[in-house]
Amino acid sequence: CGIVGYIGNNDSKNVLLHGLEKLEYRGYDSAGIAVLNEEGVHLTKVKGRIAKLKESVDDSVQATMGIGHTRWATHGIPSITNAHPHQSTSGKFTIVHNGVIENYQDLKREYLSDVTFLSETDTEVIVQLIDKFYQEHQDTLTAFRKAMELLKGSYAIGMIDVDDTETLYVSKNKSPLLIGLGDGFNVIASDAMATLKETNQYLEINDKEIVLVTRNHVQIQKLDGTVVEREPYTAQIDA
Ligand code: GLU
Repeated sequence: CGIVGYIGNNDSKNVLLHGLEKLEYRGYDSAGIAVLNEEGVHLTKVKGRIAKLKESVDDSVQATMGIGHTRWATHGIPSITNAHPHQSTSGKFTIVHNGVIENYQDLKREYLSDVTFLSETDTEVIVQLIDKFYQEHQDTLTAFRKAMELLKGSYAIGMIDVDDTETLYVSKNKSPLLIGLGDGFNVIASDAMATLKETNQYLEINDKEIVLVTRNHVQIQKLDGTVVEREPYTAQIDA
């Protein structure tokens, strides 16, 4: 299982697909990508290999930001419906997630009894929860933070807001996730190996931090909103 994401000035598909290929060694049963442009989110999901995902992706769609996922199913059988990315019912939020949300049933019962779920995954609870909090607060960062405060378990998360082509929302707890820094673009990845072709400059994220990734900037925050400064390091592995 692995995650990759890109936000920059070029088309995101190849970075995502190449990254997912590099993450194949982590094991997977299905895979998918979501890219965002002015028309909205374009979602492609398959059960099976990244090669199959590559064939299924529409080459004519150009989008300068996107997220990708290889899934190792923990909740729900390997299927296209259970493959990531997952979306909230409104279609506003799209996420990829690695890990296991231990309290997903409690969260579902407490906050989401009126929501119809499409998949059997713990992941869909996260994205529906964010949407729920968005409806209450009308602010994406607040909604994302409120959801992160409630999650128990392991996660590496990348999220897209359909109304914002400028920001990738990121967080992690006990699952690996790095931010890769480029010139006019930034990436996220479970393992630097996935994006070494793009950059060798990486920022570590600590557990329970929230990261706002734009084309030219990365801001790390603690859950309480305090901004954290951190120096990047140079990845030494051969691409
Ligand atoms: N628990 C999630 C699922 O079953 C994520 C699994 C993964 O890390 O790939 O869909």
